[in-house]
Amino acid sequence: MNEFEAVVNKLKDFKNRLHNQEEEDEISKILLRLREYFVNLNDKKNAKEVWRLHTIQLIQRHYVNALKCMKRKQLYEGWCFLELAEKNLEYLSDHFNIEEQGGSFFLPLIKKQVQQFQELYPDYWFHSTGTDVKTSRCSICDEIITPRNHCGHELREIYDGFRCVRIPQDFKPVHITITKYPYWKYRVIFDQNEETGETIDNYDYSIVNYLIELISNCYEDWNYKWEEITIPYSEFKDLEKVDYCPCLSGKKNLECCAEKDGILMTYIEFWKDSSKIYKYQRKPKKLYKVVLKRGTHPIIVVKAELFYID
Ligand SMILES: [Zn+2]
Ligand SMILES: [Zn+2]
Repeated sequence: MNEFEAVVNKLKDFKNRLHNQEEEDEISKILLRLREYFVNLNDKKNAKEVWRLHTIQLIQRHYVNALKCMKRKQLYEGWCFLELAEKNLEYLSDHFNIEEQGGSFFLPLIKKQVQQFQELYPDYWFHSTGTDVKTSRCSICDEIITPRNHCGHELREIYDGFRCVRIPQDFKPVHITITKYPYWKYRVIFDQNEETGETIDNYDYSIVNYLIELISNCYEDWNYKWEEITIPYSEFKDLEKVDYCPCLSGKKNLECCAEKDGILMTYIEFWKDSSKIYKYQRKPKKLYKVVLKRGTHPIIVVKAELFYID
């Protein structure tokens, strides 16, 4: 039982843990041992408690890995770890109140940051496969589940420290969908080099790249919001009405902001607990010409750039 408390304390000490492979593997090993111990005693309550702790560790670990990947500019990999953290938060929330009980494990913070990162990632497209599943097995007892035969284990419930899921046995794909709202977020569609077959990641990661440089540790609480400012036409001397509108709408200026008092520019404000505000203006990929690069407001420093997309 001392081991049990030691693990709880380690998981609560999220701020000071090393977050390296060795330390995390050590915690996992202790949890496996504890699960075995409680299962042998037929202590269902504590076996379930071990499952909770293990899931908490996974959430923390995936989140830290996501940040590490982003820092190393492995941005798609970072995205996948964010999804793993999100999924495990979902599993845990069936058996644990994240907001009320999870604070000492930093879970509400992780949940918030995972969601914010996901919102600021590029506008990915995903593929999703619709399958026709004829039969599936229960992950707890391995019995075949059909509409007439049910083993009695409840889906998503915890038995002997394991979560009950259905494992599809006899299934075939029926359709493939291209979507913005997938069940599995790792299924991102990428371009491919036709000759070499190599995957090409053409998505625009500028916001995530900017943000990740501002973040110095895994327990940092940060926030963001989109802001808008109207910049008068006099600032855009070379702009022709047939040019693409600098507001990034993708429309020609004539069909977009030409009728307005100026051009509506959106930018993001980031702030951390220190309350220092960072501002970021998303840049287009093909930057042709920079016309404006100075503050236009007493408080807000806008770094706006005029561009043409060819
Ligand atoms: Zn079963
Ligand atoms: Zn516009």
